[in-house]
Amino acid sequence: MMFSVRRSRPSAWLATVLAASLGVMVVTAQTVVTPPKNKFTPEQDVQLGKEAAAEVRQQYPVISDDQISAYLDRAGRSLVAASPKNLNHPVFEYSFTPVNLKEINAFALPGGPMFVNRGMFDAAEVEGEVVGVMAHELAHVLLRHGTANATKAQKFQIGAVAGAIAGAIIGGGWGEAISQGSQFGLGAWLMKYSRDYEKQADLLGAQIMARAGYDPRDLAKMFEAIERESKGSTPPQWLSSHPNPGNRVQYIRAEADKLTIGPRSNGTGFASAKARFATLPPARSMSDKTNAGSGGGGTATVGTVGRPVPAPDTRYKTARGGQLFQVSVPANWTGVNGENAVKFVAENGLGDYQGQSVFTHGVELGVTRASSRNLTTATEAFVNAIVSSNPGLRVSRDSQAVRISQRSGLGTALAGRSATGDTERVGVYTTLLADGSLFYYLTVVPERDADRFAAAFDRVGNSIRLTDR
Ligand SMILES: [Zn+2]
Repeated sequence: MMFSVRRSRPSAWLATVLAASLGVMVVTAQTVVTPPKNKFTPEQDVQLGKEAAAEVRQQYPVISDDQISAYLDRAGRSLVAASPKNLNHPVFEYSFTPVNLKEINAFALPGGPMFVNRGMFDAAEVEGEVVGVMAHELAHVLLRHGTANATKAQKFQIGAVAGAIAGAIIGGGWGEAISQGSQFGLGAWLMKYSRDYEKQADLLGAQIMARAGYDPRDLAKMFEAIERESKGSTPPQWLSSHPNPGNRVQYIRAEADKLTIGPRSNGTGFASAKARFATLPPARSMSDKTNAGSGGGGTATVGTVGRPVPAPDTRYKTARGGQLFQVSVPANWTGVNGENAVKFVAENGLGDYQGQSVFTHGVELGVTRASSRNLTTATEAFVNAIVSSNPGLRVSRDSQAVRISQRSGLGTALAGRSATGDTERVGVYTTLLADGSLFYYLTVVPERDADRFAAAFDRVGNSIRLTDR
């Protein structure tokens, strides 16, 4: 049923039969690409890819447009159909989701979910450029490079990975930052492919493209565009997880010379999909949502400080901090990535006030180096650090025992005059993590709004699930 058979090359049939018994992929003269060692099952690929995809869909500006979705789906399915059968595990669940982001980027998660940025379409002159990058991404899925990376890791917990991957992708700041100095960088690391894996994905992607009726030289062309953009002020995100193994354009062209380009089953529709994008709201930029964490000196704002702050929504949304924790927050709060933390901020609760950056309404969850293995000592040092960097604050109630995610913790109340002149209340909740660092949950609200926010702070605190062990 599969094309290598139909494509009227007798030797291809024989090669496929041989390949099945040898466990490698061989088709005529093209380069042989063998999946790396992997101790996970294809089912596990599917499971963690699915979980991470659900989170990405929540956080990303996904485009819901029938025409664009249908085009992407057709293009994606034609590539899947042109994939080597021995690599295309029946359990894989493919999906192809358009995203309204302007960066030239696409990524695929283990087991099949793929996301393609609008920026990829805008940069492409011909269909093969977009389809080529999709074929490259599909090749990572087929070769199971994400879990192959995980196979290289010691002490690897499958359950923690999905969040880590999502954190790494969504994160700009969040996923990476929380990872500093500990094992939490796993997600970023899983999705960052080695040069060997990149070359494999390029070659297998070129082979799939050709079988699906596209010229692999178009993929080389897209890489040239990406390389050009990488010399600009904002290097494409794509390159940070898909490093150029060197001579990329040259070896893809050389591979293309060995391949026969088959008939194309995917109809036209590229031009109209491209035109359709023009009718959508303008593409957003990743920097719009992660400007706080990237350390570029930009100050994060959520609305305008000084304007009325709405009460916490009674609907909640779930967010994850890399591999470290999960939490539910009011649906109308905005997540802002910090260096080793994330804030969830009420509208008009964070921004510039008389030349100073102030945070007036919301919570912050993060991790910091503990000064001691003893929770009381570590908490004292942490509270002292907060007080000394916020001169208006003092401890208003000494630490008391609390539970955080079913662990022993401490709750400390601070009060004082904030930069906006309000009397401010800050709650500091701490517990130690398995690796000895200190996890904290801060609540911030002016005295006059304390009653309006109290229930939300409790609910957020009670929803924290630490997943570090
Ligand atoms: Zn890649």
